[in-house]
Amino acid sequence: MPQVVLKLPASTLEEMKAHYARQQKPNPPASALFAAKTNACTITAYRSGKVLFQGQNPGVEADKWGTASSSTSKSTKKSGRTQHAFHPDEKLFTSSHIGSDEAGTGDYFGPITVAAAYVKAEQIPQLKAIGVKDSKNLSDAQITDLAKDIVAMKIPYSLLRLPNKKYNQWQRKGWSQGKIKTILHHQALNSLLKKIEPEKPDGILIDQFSEPHVYQKHLKSENQTLQNNVYFMTKAESYSIAVATGSIIARSAFVKAMNQLEFDTGLPIPKGASSKVDQAAAAIIKAYGETKLDELAKVHFANTQKAKKLVK
Ligand code: MG
Repeated sequence: MPQVVLKLPASTLEEMKAHYARQQKPNPPASALFAAKTNACTITAYRSGKVLFQGQNPGVEADKWGTASSSTSKSTKKSGRTQHAFHPDEKLFTSSHIGSDEAGTGDYFGPITVAAAYVKAEQIPQLKAIGVKDSKNLSDAQITDLAKDIVAMKIPYSLLRLPNKKYNQWQRKGWSQGKIKTILHHQALNSLLKKIEPEKPDGILIDQFSEPHVYQKHLKSENQTLQNNVYFMTKAESYSIAVATGSIIARSAFVKAMNQLEFDTGLPIPKGASSKVDQAAAAIIKAYGETKLDELAKVHFANTQKAKKLVK
């Protein structure tokens, strides 16, 4: 069974004892200060300062408190990727929390949209009941309908759309897509936190698109810092209704923007970045000139060059 052992100061042990108060196990060993059980592992904190995390995912809890020395964390490494310190506890999913997700990042045409939503614990069952779930399993029409229902429920959210003109400017000055996404998520979270004041969420869950230390590096480069209680997790929309809600709002705004582009140009604007997209971009160049793409598309994608070849 994977395990992690940490050696921690007495003050941290007291902090841990309070943190796991609701998950304490009865009858800990005589030499232990306390023992607790979470969904990830069991935790036994010894008076000596040693803390043993043992179970399926000991790293989930251990990473909150310290870094294991290589000799003791071997078994965790063997069992696979150690989870980072920003992995949420499962109880976040059932608490009042913010979730954020984005859409449009892999699409040549259309804006990147990022949405953060604040879902209170008592609203989770209703959102589930109306069909809020992982938006990857939903059609555009379903997403549009669900977004309307979410708005009608008055779920507080913050939605950002990044016009491609701005995207292309940022890209040209050397910003990676990871940095662009980081700044957008950060702004969406800040504006939502402001919107719900003085209420504070139990936590913030970002659908992970880069390692948390990379996300923080990008924030630092723009003199920003991570908000309190931020967690990162891949495929978070399958676990958190708040992330699923954010995802649906972002996705629906993206779909709407794509329909608007078709309406404005009078030409088909396909999603994605396939050869169909190359042809659509070529048609745009023919009708409006190449400069139009700077407004409509993420021009550093290979589709631009392929479309130019098609026009020749
Ligand atoms: Mg995502």
